[in-house]
Amino acid sequence: MYYKILFSNGLCSMRVLVINCGSSSVKCHLINLASDERITVGKVQSIGESGGKFKNHQQALDHVVAEIGDQQIDAVGHRVVHGGEKFVEPVIIDSSVLAEIEACSIDAPLHNPYNLLGITIAQKQWSNIPHVAVFDTAFHVRMPRRAREYAIDSELAKKYRIRRFGFHGTSHEYVAGVAASALHSTANQLRIVTLHLGNGASACAVEYGKSTETSMGMTPLEGLVMGTRAGDIDAGAILSLLRSGDFTVAELDTLLNRKSGLLGLSGSSNDLRKIEDQAEQGDDRARAAINIFAHRARKYIGAYAAVMGGVDAVVFTGGIGENSATMRRRILQRLEFLGLVVDEDRNTDAVVSNENKSVIISDASSRVRALVVKTDEEYMIASLTMRVVNEVDKISATKSIPIAISARHAHLTQETFEKLFGKGATPTVHRELLQPGQFACKEKVNLIGPRNRLDGVRVLGPLRSIDQVEIARTDEFKLGVDAPIRDSGKITGSAPITLEGTEGTVHLNEGLICARRHIHMHPDDAKEFGVEDKDIVEVAITGGPRDLSFGDTLIRVSEKYKLEMHIDTDEGNAAELGRDASGEIICDAVVGAAAKLRRTRG
Ligand code: ADP
Repeated sequence: MYYKILFSNGLCSMRVLVINCGSSSVKCHLINLASDERITVGKVQSIGESGGKFKNHQQALDHVVAEIGDQQIDAVGHRVVHGGEKFVEPVIIDSSVLAEIEACSIDAPLHNPYNLLGITIAQKQWSNIPHVAVFDTAFHVRMPRRAREYAIDSELAKKYRIRRFGFHGTSHEYVAGVAASALHSTANQLRIVTLHLGNGASACAVEYGKSTETSMGMTPLEGLVMGTRAGDIDAGAILSLLRSGDFTVAELDTLLNRKSGLLGLSGSSNDLRKIEDQAEQGDDRARAAINIFAHRARKYIGAYAAVMGGVDAVVFTGGIGENSATMRRRILQRLEFLGLVVDEDRNTDAVVSNENKSVIISDASSRVRALVVKTDEEYMIASLTMRVVNEVDKISATKSIPIAISARHAHLTQETFEKLFGKGATPTVHRELLQPGQFACKEKVNLIGPRNRLDGVRVLGPLRSIDQVEIARTDEFKLGVDAPIRDSGKITGSAPITLEGTEGTVHLNEGLICARRHIHMHPDDAKEFGVEDKDIVEVAITGGPRDLSFGDTLIRVSEKYKLEMHIDTDEGNAAELGRDASGEIICDAVVGAAAKLRRTRG
């Protein structure tokens, strides 16, 4: 995670001003990343509201700017709610970035215009330092298509930009990282459901470090029950209200965004503390509000566990998630079947703070861990801002990286190999591969899926400790299976497949994946490129028939590796690099194509 990488890189003597300019509030934090010290924390609320101190954002920002005075600031990080499809990572703000953020205002009219205003005013005040935009949507931009799209006419969806974006990304990513650290692991080793429960609320399936599902959709209205937002509701209900003639579009907007959720259900407040008190005193609507809130959240945990093929941890954050032990208890009830057992005392006693960011609330016997984590979007924004500022042009290597197109192949264990090819059988070398010690075997297996079979799939040697079969998307549809995109070795909860050899058949309950594209490199190469193991980079493929860039490419560094990028046949075809998809395993490096790296989030 960033905060670790940053510290290890020693780049953190920077003071970053974080500006979160919302529809009725401005929050500012001046953070010294070296000491985690918040030098000035300015918070202005109720802008433009009766009783509020400031009439408009200009006044509020002027006040904040004056409070900060002439303290040293090295960079400004701006929270921007909607970054559309384009921004998958934080960026230095220039005029084209400003234009893009403005274009996204159509989809986030309650947020982006204020974010933009904050940027413009701050740029004027601090004109000689970099300003960076950090997007709430960025973490989710690469959700798989199945999670991203609504089931409506896809042409129409494209035209009107009707798709799921997801929000709260900075928080989900941050708390997943903190939770993983608390479990002595890293987010990319775990499947985590994060629940950000505040006034706005959303759930996220963080599958090995990536957002693969989230409950907020095209707008922050979908999903969980929120303070004043309805969350999931049948679109037919909206049509029905419209047809009644009793509501204008603006009134429906207000109803769903400002008068629903906990407020609408309870009829009295959007503050869970008050609702919990009322429920205790016997208020029926307050009780219903609590039950519906908890039920919805529990439903999403179950759904996301299914989506990820299992779950290792559930994380609570946000005002409600961090503070309401009773709501956490309700949500986690009856999840024992998933392997999640709550420790009542730990849950009741859990207190998170800046000093103690996480508390484990599951029982020691619980297979799935539950945690409370204090979210800290400002700190995350400051870290990302600094990283972007420091990373500019850091990766400049233009050294060409050979590209290998790996067709479908199988890595087998000794046991499986013998079942398929006979007792005592060992792999025979067909051809050495570029990676030292790796070879294509003479032996081939047939893959048998529920729909069809793929014959003649090459086995790769040497034998391994787990069975893993790697196919491309196109193969999935031929076989009729749903294989997740995974890093090599991460097969838990992946797809089942039947293998047929010359001497027998083996059914694997899991092990079938679409391998994530990756680059093997020696530590010397890594140094030259300025990357580290497990970094995610973007790779520009040039010099081939078609220029194309692949984001989300994993770096794998080992003394054993030779520099080589592996993409699958579908990707090779997209770049017009590939031989036919049905070709042999690992093709020779493509002559003339060069890959240039650019570091992205990871
Ligand atoms: P926002 O989404 O506006 O940042 P927060 O994350 O601060 O909201 O969450 C605010 C909500 O947290 C409040 O509306 C309140 O219902 C809830 N909350 C805060 N403290 C407690 C508590 N001790 N018990 C129950 N709910 C709490």
